[in-house]
Amino acid sequence: MPELVFFSGTMDCGKSTLALQIEHNRSARGLVGMIFTRDDRAGEGKLSSRLGLVTDAVEVEDGQDLYAYLVDHLSQGRRADYVIADEAQFLAPEQIDQLARVVDDLGLDVFAFGITTDFRSKLFPGSQRLVELADRIEVLQVEALCWCGARATHNARTIGGEMVVEGAQVVVGDVNQSADEVGYEVLCRRHHRRRMTAAAARAAALSPDVLPVPSS
Ligand SMILES: [Zn+2]
Repeated sequence: MPELVFFSGTMDCGKSTLALQIEHNRSARGLVGMIFTRDDRAGEGKLSSRLGLVTDAVEVEDGQDLYAYLVDHLSQGRRADYVIADEAQFLAPEQIDQLARVVDDLGLDVFAFGITTDFRSKLFPGSQRLVELADRIEVLQVEALCWCGARATHNARTIGGEMVVEGAQVVVGDVNQSADEVGYEVLCRRHHRRRMTAAAARAAALSPDVLPVPSS
């Protein structure tokens, strides 16, 4: 039975690496994938991982009908044996419905990869729809770690190293940013709640305010 599978996790949990691994394993068996992505860090029409691997992909546009795109592709006599949708949190809920229809009506497996929640710890609309529709949800096993060493379950947005909790849901940034730019960092829930990024923790450790008071 074809399936809609949602591989979910935080940033840095290896989603795109697994997407590329699935692509590699299937193409090694002679299967041809349709790869969708949106706002990949490597630029338009690319699926890349932090480990440096990259492959070409179809950049999804606002309002694009992914089901119609596949029907059109197949009706031109071109192949697609399965579908990968990376950065699926950025897809619209309707586009997730279209991917479910690809599974049901075209009989193709769809593997969607996405970040579950945004920097405010709210579900992305695309991820919410995947949770609602997926046949199976896999929480990725490659665990990202908070600076404290605990399992990182939350995404923080930072500006100049300071965690922010307001702003647009989608702002392109990276984990390797310079000061005053928008960046992202994964944290455990405790430190996400306390807004304690790695930079904030370092600053607090250096601050005389937190040095122990001499007992005299
Ligand atoms: Zn922590």
